[in-house]
Amino acid sequence: MDLLKEKILKDGRVVGEDILKVDSFLNHQIDIKLMNEIGKEFRKRFKDEKVTKILTVESSGISVACITSQYFDYVPVIFAKKHEAFNLDLETYEADVFSFTKNRPYRIRVSKRFLSCEDSVLIIDDFLANGSASLGLVKIVKDAGGRVAGVGIVIEKAFQNGRKVLEKENVRVESLAIIKSMKNGEVIFD
Ligand code: 5GP
Repeated sequence: MDLLKEKILKDGRVVGEDILKVDSFLNHQIDIKLMNEIGKEFRKRFKDEKVTKILTVESSGISVACITSQYFDYVPVIFAKKHEAFNLDLETYEADVFSFTKNRPYRIRVSKRFLSCEDSVLIIDDFLANGSASLGLVKIVKDAGGRVAGVGIVIEKAFQNGRKVLEKENVRVESLAIIKSMKNGEVIFD
């Protein structure tokens, strides 16, 4: 997706060798025009899939998932929660995830009320690194007896393992920008 790649080159900032900061348009301040194009592109790529719900993980995935839903007939968006809270149901589907950016494990949870064996779920996330977050979401859909329609990623870092991990689960992965390397602060696309 050229518009996204141009934005990454213009406004993305490489931190170390493997973290891309995109807080000026995706992770902190949000560029809604770009988001709309991202939503449309996911629709184009998954147009032949039945999608009854979109699933993501808080917090950065929420904005992408909500805008994308508008191009899938406004299907409900569910975001997996990272923290236990009084307002979360006791009956939850859970998965343990290892945070790439925070370098620690955490548990994600989705109330059992919102997923069932009738759902065909599009998983959306902002980044694909080693695949732990997306894999956790795949597990949650499967535990609910649902079907994974696919995984839609805004930015994939192809020099990490995420795609391999997801394809092992027989899940279709569509990434809108695929980065081959980020050596010396320079983003090179696939
Ligand atoms: P994974 O679970 O695939 O290892 O990592 C994906 C998750 O970590 C995403 O939900 C995203 O929030 C975060 N993440 C991974 N790599 C990056 C990165 O380079 N930049 C930012 N901003 N987030 C990242």
